[in-house]
Amino acid sequence: MAIWNPWHGCTKLSPGCANCYVYRRDESIGKDASVVTKTGDYDLPVKKNRKGEYKLTPADGTVYACMTSDFFLDIADEWRQGVWDMIRERRDLNFFIITKRIDRFEECKPADWGDGWDHVAICSTCENQDRADYRIPFLLNAPIKHRFVASEPMLEEIHIEKYLETGLIEKVVCGGESGSKARPCDFEWIREMRKQCVEYNVEFFFKQTGAVFIKDGKTYHIERKYQGSQARKAKMDYIPGGVKMAEVIKINDKTWRIEDGMVRFLLFCGDEKAALIDTGMNVPEARSIAEGLTDLPIILINTHADRDHISGNAAFDEVYMSPAEEENYREAGGSAKLIPVREGDVIELGDRPLRIIDNPGHTPGSIAILDEKYRVLISGDSIQDGNIFMFGKFRNIDVYIESLKKLSKWDGTYDEIYPMHGTFPVKPELIPKLIEGAEQIRDGKATGQPVDMFGNPVNLYKFDYAGFLCD
Ligand code: SF4
Repeated sequence: MAIWNPWHGCTKLSPGCANCYVYRRDESIGKDASVVTKTGDYDLPVKKNRKGEYKLTPADGTVYACMTSDFFLDIADEWRQGVWDMIRERRDLNFFIITKRIDRFEECKPADWGDGWDHVAICSTCENQDRADYRIPFLLNAPIKHRFVASEPMLEEIHIEKYLETGLIEKVVCGGESGSKARPCDFEWIREMRKQCVEYNVEFFFKQTGAVFIKDGKTYHIERKYQGSQARKAKMDYIPGGVKMAEVIKINDKTWRIEDGMVRFLLFCGDEKAALIDTGMNVPEARSIAEGLTDLPIILINTHADRDHISGNAAFDEVYMSPAEEENYREAGGSAKLIPVREGDVIELGDRPLRIIDNPGHTPGSIAILDEKYRVLISGDSIQDGNIFMFGKFRNIDVYIESLKKLSKWDGTYDEIYPMHGTFPVKPELIPKLIEGAEQIRDGKATGQPVDMFGNPVNLYKFDYAGFLCD
């Protein structure tokens, strides 16, 4: 990484500028930072050595431009065209431009900018809600290939969900303010911003705490040299790269579904704790996704233990699950300690009781979970409109039929069913259809098509409401 300052000095613009580090540093050497001058490094990117090679060749290819001023400062208008020319020439580098003047982008962009240059990223800073709502729309509406947002110094809780939702922002960076006059940064603001990023699967980086950091109501004064490491220790960074297939979708203020390719898992929050229900197939980070969505302590409940539901289980020491599922769980590699749950048990999340209903057949210990408050039945794999696996040693179609019939006891207590595969949600009217289809298969009245499932020759019985894959 290299820094290139083609001009130096700036004019203060908004609350984030109050304790500008350029001013602080210049003051310390008796310099006036409001005087803007072209620097001796102006043409740094195109300077060459005697062999005719560029001098500016940072190992990672990244160049931060204009770090002691603002790239779109009006005083620098006459110098900017030359800077664009150099950036255009050095397409072998990646230029990163941070600005508080994104509203000047249109009038300052080069004539041949088109829909953006691949090697230029623009970061708009927003220190408070007011500046976020003013600047981010300019960032989103401008033809830019790589858009970043920085809240540094972060001066209050900021909500940018509606901007993240566009999918146009690649990364959000937050941090506190440094210096002797630093204004406090509250960890809750950082947490809140991270939560928004997790919800919209946007990369988040908590860069540094700042000099005055509030955590859990307590104020800490942190030396400059520790501000970055303390931020690292908070483990707030979020990189969606490892969870490419996961999409976080909010159902209501206390409920999320996380779509993990062909399977999903759920986060249910009460007033006192949260329950992660299953942990998906491709996301060992399931717990960290949940932690980004809630500050409540999180428990894990498995609807059953097929491999595509337990990939993130390793992040938990304990799991609520039917004891009848333990053999399947251990064979699938599950290692958490079992907290057995049985028919009639209620797991209380705090004004959100979750009632356990034994629902074997798909697997020996499959459970359904009744969320009485929100009138929802979580069905795992047993009730869905995809293809229900009924082949292999843990399946039993007779038991499955009886389980579904027994669910009629709960008729009228829920309006929707949340399955882990297929359409989301499905209606209770699906249950009698599944019973009828399973009975036709059991009684030899349905015709299946031979298909191969992971090397297993099975029969697919396809109905217009769902399918069954059977031995
Ligand atoms: S825009 Fe940046 S460089 Fe300019 S005064 Fe504000 S904080 Fe300082």
